[in-house]
Amino acid sequence: MPGISNYIGRFAPSPTGSLHFGSLLAALASFLDARANQGRWLVRMEDLDPPREIAGAAAQILRTLENFGFYWDGPVRYQSQHLDLYQQALQQLRKQQQAYPCYCSRQQIAQRHAAVYDGYCQQQKQPPRPPEPNHPAAIRVIVGDSRIGFDDAIQGHYQQQLKTEVGDFVIRRRDGLYAYQLAVVVDDAAQQVSHIVRGYDLLDSTPRQIQLQQRLQLPTPEYAHIPILVNSQGQKLSKQTYASAIDPDQPHRSLFRALQLLGQQPPEDLRAGSTHEMLRWGINHWQLSWVPRQPHLAESLLES
Ligand code: GLU
Repeated sequence: MPGISNYIGRFAPSPTGSLHFGSLLAALASFLDARANQGRWLVRMEDLDPPREIAGAAAQILRTLENFGFYWDGPVRYQSQHLDLYQQALQQLRKQQQAYPCYCSRQQIAQRHAAVYDGYCQQQKQPPRPPEPNHPAAIRVIVGDSRIGFDDAIQGHYQQQLKTEVGDFVIRRRDGLYAYQLAVVVDDAAQQVSHIVRGYDLLDSTPRQIQLQQRLQLPTPEYAHIPILVNSQGQKLSKQTYASAIDPDQPHRSLFRALQLLGQQPPEDLRAGSTHEMLRWGINHWQLSWVPRQPHLAESLLES
């Protein structure tokens, strides 16, 4: 029965295309971990970037989740309806003098040959002024000198020195859009998310998110980063490449393969089972500790 423990998990797709196999793995892993822990499982649509959005993708993602039997608790949260919360968080950081406007163009930053943003707009004696009136500024957060580390339930200890590895990062873009890093932290707290299970490609975003949580006095959830799909050069597959790997109307094959790729050893006779039976087996036998650490080669999707 959902929701009888304090566990709250979530799946947070961006509506930039239909659900591909990599996001199916994240949806399945977060769903099974939540349900195996008698937790709630929420769905949040991360629709903060209209230029990258594909019309109809949000509805299509939700339909695919339903076809796979991933029923979520409560209403879907749409980030585009919570801009006031991101604005408040940004103002709090500015008030605490932990964020500043930046007018540097990409080209100017590149010309200075800095590996990460060099803090130029923060280091000026005078507050930086727009190169021309009404020129929009990005807002960057000051990362400071500390090392931020955490214990990932799958990947083990992970840490970053934000200053040298990331630099002061953007929380509101020059085009006025709030950055993923800020919105994700605000929403995970607003939805009281306690456990985040998501793709390994976001492991190196986590220290930034933990730092924002600390600055905004928000709790830090537990994290588990699952392997993603890569090609033989180790590059992450684009949504387009593997969009075809999921047929939303034929969930069986994908679901069985996804259970295997998550290290869960489903028995052969489950192949003939219904979606419902596969998920039930998945919940009853879920072992987070069996999920492999390393990325999967996409070619392995084809074997089974
Ligand atoms: N919206 C992000 C994505 O689709 C995932 C965010 C998260 O799980 O923190 O890649």
